[in-house]
Amino acid sequence: MGRYLWFLLFPLFLFGSTVKPFKWHNGESFLTFLEHKKLPLSLYYNMDSEDQKLTEDIPFTASCQMLVSDKNTIQQILIPVNDELQLQIYLTPKKRYAMHVIPIASETYKEVLYTQIQTLPYDDILHATGSVKLASKFVKMFKGRVNFKKDPKRGDPLVIVYEQKYRLGKLFSMPEVAGAMIEMDGKRYAVYKHTDGRYYDAKGAQFEKFLFKLPIRNPRITSGFTMSRYHPVLHRYRAHVGVDFGARPGTQILATGDGRVCFAGYSNGYGKTIKILHSNGLVSLYAHQKGFKAGIHTGSKIKQGDIIGFVGSTGLSSGPHLHFGVYDGSRPINPLSVMKKKTEGFTGKEYRQFVAIRTKLDRIFNEKMRTKPIKRKAIDFQNTYYVDKDTFKVKAF
Ligand SMILES: [Zn+2]
Repeated sequence: MGRYLWFLLFPLFLFGSTVKPFKWHNGESFLTFLEHKKLPLSLYYNMDSEDQKLTEDIPFTASCQMLVSDKNTIQQILIPVNDELQLQIYLTPKKRYAMHVIPIASETYKEVLYTQIQTLPYDDILHATGSVKLASKFVKMFKGRVNFKKDPKRGDPLVIVYEQKYRLGKLFSMPEVAGAMIEMDGKRYAVYKHTDGRYYDAKGAQFEKFLFKLPIRNPRITSGFTMSRYHPVLHRYRAHVGVDFGARPGTQILATGDGRVCFAGYSNGYGKTIKILHSNGLVSLYAHQKGFKAGIHTGSKIKQGDIIGFVGSTGLSSGPHLHFGVYDGSRPINPLSVMKKKTEGFTGKEYRQFVAIRTKLDRIFNEKMRTKPIKRKAIDFQNTYYVDKDTFKVKAF
Protein backbone atom coordinates (compact mmCIF):
# COMPACT_ATOMS: atom_id res chain seq x y z
CA MET A 1 0.00 0.00 0.00
CA GLY A 2 2.77 2.41 0.98
CA ARG A 3 4.37 2.06 -2.43
CA TYR A 4 1.16 3.03 -4.19
CA LEU A 5 0.49 6.01 -2.00
CA TRP A 6 3.98 7.24 -2.64
CA PHE A 7 3.10 7.59 -6.29
CA LEU A 8 -0.03 9.51 -5.43
CA LEU A 9 2.15 12.03 -3.66
CA PHE A 10 4.53 12.52 -6.55
CA PRO A 11 3.21 15.99 -7.40
CA LEU A 12 4.09 17.21 -3.93
CA PHE A 13 7.72 16.26 -4.12
CA LEU A 14 8.87 16.76 -7.67
CA PHE A 15 10.14 20.27 -8.01
CA GLY A 16 10.40 21.73 -11.47
CA SER A 17 7.42 19.64 -12.54
CA THR A 18 3.92 20.85 -13.26
CA VAL A 19 0.62 19.14 -12.66
CA LYS A 20 -1.73 19.63 -15.60
CA PRO A 21 -5.33 18.68 -14.95
CA PHE A 22 -7.41 17.55 -17.93
CA LYS A 23 -10.78 15.91 -18.65
CA TRP A 24 -11.16 12.60 -20.44
CA HIS A 25 -12.67 13.20 -23.89
CA ASN A 26 -16.12 11.76 -24.47
CA GLY A 27 -15.77 8.65 -26.62
CA GLU A 28 -11.97 8.63 -26.66
CA SER A 29 -10.50 5.14 -26.58
CA PHE A 30 -7.53 4.36 -24.42
CA LEU A 31 -5.46 3.49 -27.48
CA THR A 32 -6.09 6.81 -29.22
CA PHE A 33 -5.30 8.56 -25.95
CA LEU A 34 -1.89 6.83 -25.84
CA GLU A 35 -1.33 7.79 -29.48
CA HIS A 36 -2.14 11.44 -28.82
CA LYS A 37 0.23 11.57 -25.89
CA LYS A 38 2.94 9.71 -27.86
CA LEU A 39 3.02 6.96 -25.26
CA PRO A 40 3.83 3.33 -26.18
CA LEU A 41 0.75 1.35 -27.27
CA SER A 42 2.27 -1.67 -25.55
CA LEU A 43 0.92 -0.14 -22.32
CA TYR A 44 -2.51 -1.22 -23.55
CA TYR A 45 -1.54 -4.48 -25.24
CA ASN A 46 0.40 -5.68 -22.20
CA MET A 47 -2.61 -5.26 -19.91
CA ASP A 48 -4.63 -8.35 -19.15
CA SER A 49 -8.14 -8.53 -20.56
CA GLU A 50 -9.85 -7.46 -17.31
CA ASP A 51 -7.79 -4.27 -17.17
CA GLN A 52 -8.34 -3.65 -20.89
CA LYS A 53 -12.07 -3.84 -20.30
CA LEU A 54 -11.67 -1.36 -17.45
CA THR A 55 -10.33 1.24 -19.88
CA GLU A 56 -13.65 1.15 -21.77
CA ASP A 57 -15.40 2.40 -18.65
CA ILE A 58 -13.34 5.55 -18.11
CA PRO A 59 -16.09 8.12 -17.51
CA PHE A 60 -16.07 11.03 -19.94
CA THR A 61 -16.25 13.34 -16.96
CA ALA A 62 -13.11 11.86 -15.39
CA SER A 63 -10.78 14.49 -13.96
CA CYS A 64 -7.30 13.32 -14.87
CA GLN A 65 -3.89 14.67 -13.95
CA MET A 66 -0.68 14.76 -15.87
CA LEU A 67 2.67 15.46 -14.29
CA VAL A 68 5.12 16.99 -16.74
CA SER A 69 8.81 17.80 -16.17
CA ASP A 70 10.34 21.15 -17.07
CA LYS A 71 11.72 19.41 -20.21
CA ASN A 72 8.10 18.58 -21.11
CA THR A 73 8.44 14.85 -20.47
CA ILE A 74 5.37 13.11 -19.10
CA GLN A 75 6.30 11.73 -15.71
CA GLN A 76 2.95 10.52 -14.54
CA ILE A 77 -0.69 10.36 -15.65
CA LEU A 78 -3.55 9.50 -13.31
CA ILE A 79 -6.87 8.50 -14.88
CA PRO A 80 -9.75 7.60 -12.54
CA VAL A 81 -11.75 4.65 -13.93
CA ASN A 82 -14.36 4.82 -11.17
CA ASP A 83 -14.72 6.24 -7.66
CA GLU A 84 -12.16 3.90 -6.20
CA LEU A 85 -9.57 2.94 -8.80
CA GLN A 86 -7.33 4.83 -11.17
CA LEU A 87 -4.90 3.98 -13.93
CA GLN A 88 -1.44 5.24 -13.25
CA ILE A 89 1.03 5.61 -16.11
CA TYR A 90 4.49 6.59 -14.95
CA LEU A 91 8.07 6.88 -16.07
CA THR A 92 10.36 4.39 -14.34
CA PRO A 93 13.94 5.30 -13.34
CA LYS A 94 14.99 3.37 -16.49
CA LYS A 95 13.00 5.90 -18.55
CA ARG A 96 10.37 3.38 -19.59
CA TYR A 97 6.65 3.85 -19.16
CA ALA A 98 4.78 1.45 -16.93
CA MET A 99 1.16 1.23 -15.88
CA HIS A 100 -0.70 0.05 -12.80
CA VAL A 101 -4.25 0.03 -11.50
CA ILE A 102 -4.07 1.66 -8.07
CA PRO A 103 -6.60 2.82 -5.47
CA ILE A 104 -7.65 6.46 -5.23
CA ALA A 105 -6.84 7.84 -1.79
CA SER A 106 -9.98 9.36 -0.31
CA GLU A 107 -11.66 9.64 3.06
CA THR A 108 -15.30 8.98 3.83
CA TYR A 109 -17.31 10.90 6.42
CA LYS A 110 -20.81 10.36 7.75
CA GLU A 111 -22.76 13.60 7.39
CA VAL A 112 -26.25 14.88 8.11
CA LEU A 113 -27.86 17.85 6.44
CA TYR A 114 -30.75 19.69 8.07
CA THR A 115 -32.15 22.66 6.25
CA GLN A 116 -35.37 24.58 5.70
CA ILE A 117 -36.80 25.40 2.32
CA GLN A 118 -36.11 28.96 1.22
CA THR A 119 -36.61 28.61 -2.52
CA LEU A 120 -36.46 25.06 -3.95
CA PRO A 121 -34.98 21.90 -2.36
CA TYR A 122 -32.33 21.63 -5.09
CA ASP A 123 -31.10 25.19 -4.57
CA ASP A 124 -31.29 24.99 -0.79
CA ILE A 125 -29.29 21.73 -0.61
CA LEU A 126 -26.74 23.11 -3.03
CA HIS A 127 -26.47 26.32 -1.01
CA ALA A 128 -26.02 24.44 2.27
CA THR A 129 -23.50 21.83 1.11
CA GLY A 130 -21.97 23.05 -2.14
CA SER A 131 -22.75 19.62 -3.61
CA VAL A 132 -24.57 19.53 -6.95
CA LYS A 133 -24.52 15.74 -6.73
CA LEU A 134 -26.30 15.63 -3.37
CA ALA A 135 -28.89 18.16 -4.53
CA SER A 136 -29.74 16.27 -7.71
CA LYS A 137 -29.70 12.90 -5.95
CA PHE A 138 -32.25 14.14 -3.40
CA VAL A 139 -34.57 15.48 -6.09
CA LYS A 140 -34.20 12.27 -8.14
CA MET A 141 -35.00 10.09 -5.13
CA PHE A 142 -38.36 11.75 -4.55
CA LYS A 143 -39.26 12.08 -8.23
CA GLY A 144 -42.79 10.91 -8.95
CA ARG A 145 -43.81 11.20 -5.27
CA VAL A 146 -43.30 14.85 -4.54
CA ASN A 147 -43.64 17.78 -6.91
CA PHE A 148 -40.71 19.87 -5.78
CA LYS A 149 -41.69 22.77 -8.01
CA LYS A 150 -45.12 23.11 -6.36
CA ASP A 151 -45.43 21.31 -3.05
CA PRO A 152 -42.76 22.66 -0.66
CA LYS A 153 -43.42 25.89 1.19
CA ARG A 154 -40.88 28.26 2.71
CA GLY A 155 -39.76 26.89 6.08
CA ASP A 156 -40.50 23.21 5.35
CA PRO A 157 -37.70 21.10 6.86
CA LEU A 158 -35.66 18.42 5.14
CA VAL A 159 -32.99 16.04 6.46
CA ILE A 160 -30.48 13.94 4.52
CA VAL A 161 -28.28 11.30 6.18
CA TYR A 162 -25.39 10.41 3.90
CA GLU A 163 -21.76 9.49 3.45
CA GLN A 164 -19.47 11.85 1.61
CA LYS A 165 -16.03 11.14 0.22
CA TYR A 166 -13.33 13.77 0.24
CA ARG A 167 -10.17 13.81 -1.81
CA LEU A 168 -7.53 16.37 -0.89
CA GLY A 169 -10.14 18.28 1.06
CA LYS A 170 -12.59 18.51 -1.83
CA LEU A 171 -15.93 16.81 -2.27
CA PHE A 172 -15.32 13.67 -4.29
CA SER A 173 -17.54 11.08 -5.90
CA MET A 174 -21.27 10.44 -5.47
CA PRO A 175 -22.66 10.88 -1.93
CA GLU A 176 -24.23 7.67 -0.59
CA VAL A 177 -27.62 8.56 0.87
CA ALA A 178 -28.67 6.29 3.76
CA GLY A 179 -31.99 8.03 4.29
CA ALA A 180 -33.78 11.29 3.64
CA MET A 181 -37.00 13.07 4.52
CA ILE A 182 -38.96 16.18 3.79
CA GLU A 183 -41.97 17.47 5.73
CA MET A 184 -44.61 19.40 3.86
CA ASP A 185 -47.89 20.57 5.33
CA GLY A 186 -47.00 18.55 8.44
CA LYS A 187 -46.78 15.32 6.41
CA ARG A 188 -43.49 13.45 6.32
CA TYR A 189 -42.12 11.80 3.17
CA ALA A 190 -39.19 9.58 4.09
CA VAL A 191 -36.96 7.16 2.25
CA TYR A 192 -34.71 4.50 3.78
CA LYS A 193 -31.89 2.49 2.23
CA HIS A 194 -32.01 -1.19 3.08
CA THR A 195 -29.03 -3.57 3.21
CA ASP A 196 -29.88 -4.72 -0.34
CA GLY A 197 -28.97 -1.22 -1.61
CA ARG A 198 -32.59 -0.46 -2.56
CA TYR A 199 -34.68 2.44 -1.24
CA TYR A 200 -37.98 1.93 0.59
CA ASP A 201 -40.67 4.10 2.13
CA ALA A 202 -41.70 3.84 5.79
CA LYS A 203 -44.05 0.95 4.99
CA GLY A 204 -41.31 -1.04 3.27
CA ALA A 205 -42.53 -0.50 -0.30
CA GLN A 206 -39.86 0.13 -2.93
CA PHE A 207 -39.52 3.86 -3.26
CA GLU A 208 -38.24 4.23 -6.78
CA LYS A 209 -40.98 4.64 -9.38
CA PHE A 210 -38.95 3.44 -12.31
CA LEU A 211 -37.73 -0.09 -11.76
CA PHE A 212 -35.84 -2.49 -13.97
CA LYS A 213 -36.32 -6.19 -14.57
CA LEU A 214 -33.53 -8.75 -14.88
CA PRO A 215 -32.28 -9.19 -18.46
CA ILE A 216 -32.23 -13.01 -18.32
CA ARG A 217 -34.92 -15.53 -17.42
CA ASN A 218 -33.84 -17.87 -14.60
CA PRO A 219 -30.78 -15.74 -13.82
CA ARG A 220 -27.62 -17.25 -12.37
CA ILE A 221 -25.13 -14.63 -11.18
CA THR A 222 -21.54 -15.71 -11.72
CA SER A 223 -19.84 -12.43 -10.82
CA GLY A 224 -21.14 -9.45 -8.85
CA PHE A 225 -20.58 -5.70 -8.96
CA THR A 226 -17.53 -4.14 -7.36
CA MET A 227 -15.75 -0.81 -7.82
CA SER A 228 -12.57 -2.12 -6.27
CA ARG A 229 -11.43 -5.47 -4.99
CA TYR A 230 -7.92 -6.63 -4.19
CA HIS A 231 -7.18 -9.89 -5.92
CA PRO A 232 -5.17 -11.92 -3.39
CA VAL A 233 -3.63 -14.27 -5.98
CA LEU A 234 -2.84 -11.79 -8.73
CA HIS A 235 -1.83 -9.12 -6.16
CA ARG A 236 -3.65 -6.41 -8.01
CA TYR A 237 -6.71 -4.27 -7.84
CA ARG A 238 -9.68 -5.27 -9.88
CA ALA A 239 -13.05 -3.74 -10.68
CA HIS A 240 -16.14 -5.36 -12.13
CA VAL A 241 -18.64 -2.63 -12.89
CA GLY A 242 -21.52 -4.89 -13.82
CA VAL A 243 -23.13 -8.23 -13.07
CA ASP A 244 -22.31 -11.41 -15.01
CA PHE A 245 -25.07 -13.91 -15.71
CA GLY A 246 -23.97 -17.38 -16.71
CA ALA A 247 -26.14 -18.70 -19.56
CA ARG A 248 -25.98 -21.02 -22.56
CA PRO A 249 -25.01 -19.40 -25.87
CA GLY A 250 -28.11 -18.21 -27.69
CA THR A 251 -30.12 -17.52 -24.51
CA GLN A 252 -32.45 -14.58 -25.06
CA ILE A 253 -31.43 -11.21 -23.61
CA LEU A 254 -34.32 -9.01 -22.49
CA ALA A 255 -34.42 -5.22 -22.22
CA THR A 256 -34.34 -4.28 -18.54
CA GLY A 257 -36.70 -1.33 -19.04
CA ASP A 258 -38.41 0.91 -21.62
CA GLY A 259 -36.09 3.15 -23.60
CA ARG A 260 -34.23 3.76 -26.79
CA VAL A 261 -31.12 1.97 -28.12
CA CYS A 262 -28.27 4.47 -27.94
CA PHE A 263 -25.53 2.07 -29.07
CA ALA A 264 -25.59 -1.22 -30.98
CA GLY A 265 -22.18 -2.22 -32.21
CA TYR A 266 -18.81 -3.74 -31.38
CA SER A 267 -16.25 -2.75 -28.80
CA ASN A 268 -12.91 -4.43 -28.29
CA GLY A 269 -13.51 -5.39 -24.66
CA TYR A 270 -17.26 -5.86 -24.52
CA GLY A 271 -17.69 -7.42 -27.99
CA LYS A 272 -21.15 -7.10 -29.52
CA THR A 273 -22.83 -4.63 -27.22
CA ILE A 274 -26.17 -2.87 -26.90
CA LYS A 275 -26.78 0.18 -24.73
CA ILE A 276 -30.26 1.45 -23.93
CA LEU A 277 -31.04 4.93 -22.61
CA HIS A 278 -34.04 4.85 -20.27
CA SER A 279 -36.44 7.66 -19.44
CA ASN A 280 -35.06 7.99 -15.90
CA GLY A 281 -31.68 8.91 -17.42
CA LEU A 282 -29.99 5.58 -16.61
CA VAL A 283 -28.23 3.59 -19.35
CA SER A 284 -28.17 -0.23 -19.41
CA LEU A 285 -25.46 -2.21 -21.21
CA TYR A 286 -25.53 -5.80 -22.53
CA ALA A 287 -22.12 -7.15 -23.57
CA HIS A 288 -20.45 -10.17 -25.21
CA GLN A 289 -23.54 -10.96 -27.32
CA LYS A 290 -23.52 -13.61 -30.02
CA GLY A 291 -25.80 -11.43 -32.11
CA PHE A 292 -28.55 -8.83 -31.93
CA LYS A 293 -32.19 -9.52 -32.62
CA ALA A 294 -33.01 -8.66 -36.22
CA GLY A 295 -34.07 -5.04 -36.60
CA ILE A 296 -32.35 -3.75 -33.46
CA HIS A 297 -30.19 -0.74 -34.23
CA THR A 298 -29.19 2.59 -32.71
CA GLY A 299 -32.40 4.58 -32.26
CA SER A 300 -34.75 1.56 -31.89
CA LYS A 301 -37.55 2.10 -29.37
CA ILE A 302 -37.62 -0.68 -26.79
CA LYS A 303 -40.20 -1.91 -24.27
CA GLN A 304 -39.28 -3.60 -21.00
CA GLY A 305 -38.92 -7.36 -21.59
CA ASP A 306 -38.35 -7.10 -25.38
CA ILE A 307 -35.81 -9.55 -26.75
CA ILE A 308 -32.83 -7.50 -27.94
CA GLY A 309 -30.12 -10.13 -28.52
CA PHE A 310 -28.58 -13.47 -27.61
CA VAL A 311 -25.93 -14.56 -25.12
CA GLY A 312 -22.51 -15.16 -26.61
CA SER A 313 -18.82 -14.77 -25.88
CA THR A 314 -17.65 -11.94 -28.18
CA GLY A 315 -14.96 -9.47 -27.11
CA LEU A 316 -12.71 -10.20 -24.16
CA SER A 317 -14.84 -12.89 -22.59
CA SER A 318 -13.78 -16.07 -20.85
CA GLY A 319 -16.90 -18.00 -21.89
CA PRO A 320 -20.54 -17.50 -22.79
CA HIS A 321 -22.22 -15.10 -20.38
CA LEU A 322 -24.08 -11.81 -20.31
CA HIS A 323 -22.20 -8.90 -18.79
CA PHE A 324 -24.91 -6.48 -17.70
CA GLY A 325 -24.13 -2.93 -16.58
CA VAL A 326 -26.17 0.09 -15.48
CA TYR A 327 -24.81 3.63 -15.68
CA ASP A 328 -25.92 6.91 -14.15
CA GLY A 329 -24.39 9.28 -16.67
CA SER A 330 -20.94 7.82 -17.17
CA ARG A 331 -20.83 6.40 -13.66
CA PRO A 332 -21.49 2.67 -13.20
CA ILE A 333 -23.94 1.74 -10.45
CA ASN A 334 -24.83 -1.67 -9.05
CA PRO A 335 -27.53 -2.98 -11.44
CA LEU A 336 -29.16 -5.00 -8.67
CA SER A 337 -29.91 -1.82 -6.67
CA VAL A 338 -32.40 -0.63 -9.30
CA MET A 339 -34.09 -3.98 -10.00
CA LYS A 340 -37.67 -4.55 -9.03
CA LYS A 341 -37.91 -7.15 -6.30
CA LYS A 342 -39.81 -10.31 -7.17
CA THR A 343 -42.02 -10.01 -4.13
CA GLU A 344 -43.32 -6.82 -2.53
CA GLY A 345 -42.59 -6.16 1.13
CA PHE A 346 -40.41 -7.89 3.69
CA THR A 347 -40.82 -11.00 5.75
CA GLY A 348 -39.10 -12.45 8.84
CA LYS A 349 -35.49 -11.47 9.37
CA GLU A 350 -35.49 -9.02 6.46
CA TYR A 351 -38.41 -7.17 8.03
CA ARG A 352 -36.72 -6.95 11.42
CA GLN A 353 -33.57 -5.59 9.75
CA PHE A 354 -35.62 -2.99 7.91
CA VAL A 355 -37.39 -1.88 11.09
CA ALA A 356 -34.02 -1.47 12.83
CA ILE A 357 -32.69 0.70 9.96
CA ARG A 358 -35.90 2.75 9.86
CA THR A 359 -35.90 3.28 13.63
CA LYS A 360 -32.29 4.45 13.62
CA LEU A 361 -32.86 6.89 10.76
CA ASP A 362 -36.13 8.20 12.25
CA ARG A 363 -34.22 8.91 15.46
CA ILE A 364 -31.67 10.98 13.48
CA PHE A 365 -34.43 12.78 11.56
CA ASN A 366 -36.27 13.67 14.78
CA GLU A 367 -33.13 14.78 16.58
CA LYS A 368 -32.13 17.12 13.73
CA MET A 369 -35.68 18.49 13.54
CA ARG A 370 -35.35 19.39 17.22
CA THR A 371 -31.79 20.75 17.29
CA LYS A 372 -31.87 22.39 13.83
CA PRO A 373 -28.08 22.28 13.37
CA ILE A 374 -26.46 24.64 10.90
CA LYS A 375 -24.46 22.81 8.27
CA ARG A 376 -20.92 23.99 7.81
CA LYS A 377 -20.13 23.93 4.15
CA ALA A 378 -16.93 22.19 3.07
CA ILE A 379 -14.49 24.90 2.14
CA ASP A 380 -12.43 24.39 -0.94
CA PHE A 381 -8.87 24.69 0.32
CA GLN A 382 -7.16 24.18 -2.96
CA ASN A 383 -3.62 22.90 -2.48
CA THR A 384 -4.01 23.06 1.27
CA TYR A 385 -3.32 19.61 2.57
CA TYR A 386 -0.71 17.81 4.56
CA VAL A 387 0.87 14.41 4.46
CA ASP A 388 0.76 12.23 7.51
CA LYS A 389 4.35 11.08 7.77
CA ASP A 390 3.44 7.84 9.53
CA THR A 391 0.58 6.68 7.36
CA PHE A 392 1.56 8.54 4.19
CA LYS A 393 -2.07 9.59 3.86
CA VAL A 394 -3.02 12.90 2.34
CA LYS A 395 -5.51 14.71 4.52
CA ALA A 396 -7.62 17.80 4.16
CA PHE A 397 -6.39 20.61 6.34
ZN1 LIG B 1 -18.68 -8.89 -16.48
